[in-house]
Amino acid sequence: MHLQIKNIRIVDPSQKKDSVGNVFIENGKIVSKLSGNVDKEIDGRGKIAVPGLIDVHSHLREPGQEDKETIYTGTRSAAKGGITTVFCMPNTKPVIDNAPAAEFILLKAQKEGLVNVFPIGCATKGSEGMELSEIGVLKKAGVVAISDDGLPISNSQIMRRALEYTKMFKLPVISHSEDKELSKNGVMNEGKNSTILGLRGIPRQAEEVMVSRDIMLAELTGGYLHIAHVSTAGSVGLVRQAKEKGIKVTAETCPHYFTLTDDIVKVYDANTKMNPPLREQKDVDAIKQGLADGTIDCIATDHAPHIQEEKNREFDLAPFGIIGFETALSLILNELVDKGVLSLSDAIAKMTLNPAKIFNLTARGSLEEGSIADITIIDQKYSYKFEEESIVSKSKNSPFVGRKFNGGAVMTIVAGNVVWQA
Ligand SMILES: [Zn+2]
Repeated sequence: MHLQIKNIRIVDPSQKKDSVGNVFIENGKIVSKLSGNVDKEIDGRGKIAVPGLIDVHSHLREPGQEDKETIYTGTRSAAKGGITTVFCMPNTKPVIDNAPAAEFILLKAQKEGLVNVFPIGCATKGSEGMELSEIGVLKKAGVVAISDDGLPISNSQIMRRALEYTKMFKLPVISHSEDKELSKNGVMNEGKNSTILGLRGIPRQAEEVMVSRDIMLAELTGGYLHIAHVSTAGSVGLVRQAKEKGIKVTAETCPHYFTLTDDIVKVYDANTKMNPPLREQKDVDAIKQGLADGTIDCIATDHAPHIQEEKNREFDLAPFGIIGFETALSLILNELVDKGVLSLSDAIAKMTLNPAKIFNLTARGSLEEGSIADITIIDQKYSYKFEEESIVSKSKNSPFVGRKFNGGAVMTIVAGNVVWQA
């Protein structure tokens, strides 16, 4: 199959490229010119080709919670958002703490998935925080990182060992930084709004205490630490300091943390409830600053589908989390690029070049010759209203329903195949 995208603006941070040209694809790979006739030609005028977006933090819910999402539906939702590769967290039922479980995800994704899926393995057996999982075996099975995500490792000795042990595999340990004692019973950010609403708060320190600890342990061990979903100004400062000291730490944030504050939390809308919680304007500003100066390397969705009945419960009882695949790119374009926080190239790097580098993905995150032809085509003039009926994910729990966007993905190409088109 020979595919040609003509006269398109190519933005590829891996080559520091931003110019109009043609993209050639042969046998699923990017080539400098085609060896035979063109089978399919795409007119790229007015549009932008970027390397396929990589989302390093999501929950596909399979196996075990297929009522919320499956690999089939989740990868279709990702494709619609212009995302060509997703990492899925291991807190499924059962958890992904052994090779057959990781292989199940990979096999299922190969059969039913529309985009690439890479599993993240549990750091500890059963995600219980007591004993390291068989990390070497998991790595061989294909996991790209290890994490106990929502059940962070509270025992510092175990976290130290995880960082030490994964070092030899160059496998990052992803830290969902939360001191569960400090956050206990909290449902939103602790501050003025939690007082007004009479809801129990989660202080910023619940995140920052663990970010500090894990940075210290990364320094001690020389291991690869990746901080998940940074939500506070303090965490941005800690990561910045650690990087200045040369500690091997990288970080991600999610679109909602640079877009929303806890001003939108209302007791009856659990679609504003996620963990970590939405913070305040000074945190949003600090996160934007952290994205701009390179402190925060990646933007990930933390796509966390939940069915409506669960989210319709009272705020206190509803589960944490929102879906994110289908709005991430538009939020990046509207909140970061259009507002001058990041150049388009720097913004795209947070979902392409940087994740590919941090998680050692070969031949991805780039449009260089020889790369796998995962490509996202963006139209900055593509205006739409994000409506519940249009959501492809099995779950609809998004605080962005009803929002109008200018710009988004209009075509998603995975290994040279057009898998989605607006
Ligand atoms: Zn998490």
